[in-house]
Amino acid sequence: MSKILVIAEHLGGKLNSSTARAVSAAAAVKPEAIDVLVLADNVDAIAADAAKIEGVSRVLTVARAENAHPLAAVLAPQIAKAAAGYTHVFVPSTTFGKDVAPRVAALLGVAQVSDVMSVEGSHTFKRPIYAGNAIITVEADAAHAVVATIRTASWSAAGNGASSASIEALSLDVTLPTHTRFVELKQGKSDRPDLQSASKVVSGGRGVGSKENFEIIYKFADKIGAAVGASRAAVDAGYVPNEMQVGQTGKIIAPELYMAIGISGAIQHLTGIKDAGTIVAINKDGEAPIFEVADIGLVGDLFKLIPELEQALG
Ligand SMILES: Cc1cc2nc3c(=O)[nH]c(=O)nc-3n(C[C@H](O)[C@H](O)[C@H](O)COP(=O)(O)OP(=O)(O)OC[C@H]3O[C@@H](n4cnc5c(N)ncnc54)[C@H](O)[C@@H]3O)c2cc1C
Repeated sequence: MSKILVIAEHLGGKLNSSTARAVSAAAAVKPEAIDVLVLADNVDAIAADAAKIEGVSRVLTVARAENAHPLAAVLAPQIAKAAAGYTHVFVPSTTFGKDVAPRVAALLGVAQVSDVMSVEGSHTFKRPIYAGNAIITVEADAAHAVVATIRTASWSAAGNGASSASIEALSLDVTLPTHTRFVELKQGKSDRPDLQSASKVVSGGRGVGSKENFEIIYKFADKIGAAVGASRAAVDAGYVPNEMQVGQTGKIIAPELYMAIGISGAIQHLTGIKDAGTIVAINKDGEAPIFEVADIGLVGDLFKLIPELEQALG
């Protein structure tokens, strides 16, 4: 029988919804138990949130000052130690998970299964390859623990259960490395919804033309309460910072509504929006590949069409 350890992702004392998505993937394995591991300096609020997730058996906490910031080099040895007795370790395939999971896999001496999009059996999983152009079925060796990252866009977040799971403090006898230290966190400040979890996203591409012109995208996004994303060409041209990039080498997102404005629809961009609900494209080139995946397409100049849309919205 399987026993799964899900690693909680959190920031600023709040549990990230990616954790509940990883719990959904864990539930699909139909395990005997799903435990969530919270590594932080102050674990209480995060653990209480994790305990509410439906399907969670226990929440295990490791409260240490060294865990105040998610440094993969510091977290991985603790996770590897806590993984004893578990058949699977699941981590969300976010920036956090992509950083920490390979180290955990290396410490446990196994090959990681990346970007699990469906569970076919306790050791058989589907994952995208070639920028999402093909799906491969992989089988992990049942003789070893499975370390897997979970493609969050493929799983809905497990809801809250009727009762809370128990919370237990773990004491791990691990020597933590000192070669990697937290120095400073630099992050963009925005009052807009978070790109990775927003239900609506408006993205601009090279077609927007400049950093100044991007104002039209921000204004429209604010009007409809959307997060703002961008293509890599827009990032590379310096119109927007790179945390806004959507796609293969950016963020993989699954909003209910995705609006691609002045974006051609390169395969590396489409990989990031494969699981979006309704896709709307605005492009002056009627032959642009984005129209092949768009549910609604508007052919025309974005600088004319967006003000018209804004007006129609009142
Ligand atoms: C390994 C690798 C990884 C990559 N990863 C990513 C990734 O993560 N994300 C990503 O986005 N790309 C990625 N790319 C780059 C990708 O291949 C494309 O180059 C990029 O997505 C193009 O961005 P774009 O659509 O904004 O620009 P373009 O392809 O230049 O398209 C601009 C579009 O705007 C339209 N347009 C111009 N002016 C207007 C106007 N006034 N009104 C309306 N429409 C207008 C044009 O018709 C055109 O279709 C990657 C590439 C490689 C090789």
